[in-house]
Amino acid sequence: MSPGNLVVVGASLAGLRAVEGARKAGFDGTLTLIGAERHLPYDRPPLSKAFLDDHPAEAVVETTAFRTEQALRHDLGVDLRLGTPATGLDTRRKEVLIGDEAVPYDAAVIATGAHARTLPTPPGLAGVHTLRTVDDAIAVRAALDAGARTVVIGAGFIGSEVASSARKRGLEVTVLEALPTPLVRAVGEALGEVCGGLHRRHGTDLRCGVGVRSLEGHERVERVVLSDGSTLPADLVVLGVGAVPATDWLAGSGITLEDGIVCDSHLFTGAEGVYAAGDVARWHNPVFDRPMRLEHWTSAAEQGSLAARNALDPTASTAYVTVPYFWSDWYDQRIQFVGSPQADETLVLEDDTERDGRCVALYREGDRLIGALSINGQSLIMKLRALIRKRATWADALAFAEQRRIGGPSTLSR
Ligand code: FAD
Repeated sequence: MSPGNLVVVGASLAGLRAVEGARKAGFDGTLTLIGAERHLPYDRPPLSKAFLDDHPAEAVVETTAFRTEQALRHDLGVDLRLGTPATGLDTRRKEVLIGDEAVPYDAAVIATGAHARTLPTPPGLAGVHTLRTVDDAIAVRAALDAGARTVVIGAGFIGSEVASSARKRGLEVTVLEALPTPLVRAVGEALGEVCGGLHRRHGTDLRCGVGVRSLEGHERVERVVLSDGSTLPADLVVLGVGAVPATDWLAGSGITLEDGIVCDSHLFTGAEGVYAAGDVARWHNPVFDRPMRLEHWTSAAEQGSLAARNALDPTASTAYVTVPYFWSDWYDQRIQFVGSPQADETLVLEDDTERDGRCVALYREGDRLIGALSINGQSLIMKLRALIRKRATWADALAFAEQRRIGGPSTLSR
């Protein structure tokens, strides 16, 4: 029997794609979308990029919203419950709880994403922000408009994009990274160095291997005290120290939680009718034969739609099989990564980033190509992604690079 009602928890990218995917698959039952934020589902990547640029402020929420309220409520027939965080899940009674209210489901998709990680900061100190939501972005943008001396803590992608936007406005920017190299976990050491070079060449003061002792100021942040006792003046501090899956509300539900919601390769949580999607889901990716949790736009969108289809018809469910992909924009340079950075060897085939040119690198595990990074290599990266998907050998990858006349090989790290 097909489900009469589908409840989707989390009204952002994965949740939106879940309700769209359900209707596309012909589901004509009751569709409920529950979101903690009061905003319509909106797109996050622009929040640390174009939205922070120095152009006249617009009605931000409207410019990043995926769909109008009319389109969601009337065209898609969604019962939209915004500003109402789910507080629990009863998998025995098949109910999502919102405080005292119980919303029954036959099938459910959990797409509650992730929260920005924070650091202990003095309570009420203004000028200190994370960047995850549109409200965060509005606050950061206002500080940049006021010409803030900006300090970013954490040289990850979002922090680096904020730094890049601030520099483009000509502001003084420092990025502090606790590890000796930025982005090691995301792209490996050799390419972390290359990305760090982009900051330095564009006038951002990138300091690695530096800890933060405290943030100080009277009501507003005025300075950052570093672990060596030195201080940096600051009007804006952006914490770019990663994200944590939003699973607190599932405590006691019986759903297995381990840095996200543990799912099988079909995004099934193990609780009847309940699937997960997006940044919150840790699923088994058959391409790499290992569990993964991604915080990437493309996989969140694809998983949302597939989780809904699988939840509505488990007998025809399919695995989510993907080569991870993300992009990031720094100083008008586009960084793109496909696959996994957990490599035995990284080979930088080409590095012309000194002149804002192209960089191409391949990642090897055993005798397999498992990852690739490009900077300004848009026409190439999806071809490399397809090679990884086909389980290309390292020799195949090198032959491909030679055929495309990519650079002259120089192994930078092993
Ligand atoms: P989220 O977008 O985190 O949404 C989850 C939603 O669930 C939120 O609205 C949250 O409020 C809600 N929620 C949480 N708990 C509850 C609850 N209990 N009840 C109801 N609702 C709840 N990816 C890229 O590939 N490239 C980029 O350039 C890029 N740039 C980014 C820039 C920024 C500033 C950010 C924040 C992310 C960026 N990403 C990028 C990542 C991408 O945006 C995410 O992977 C994507 O948003 C994940 O979608 P999601 O729906 O799984 O989770």
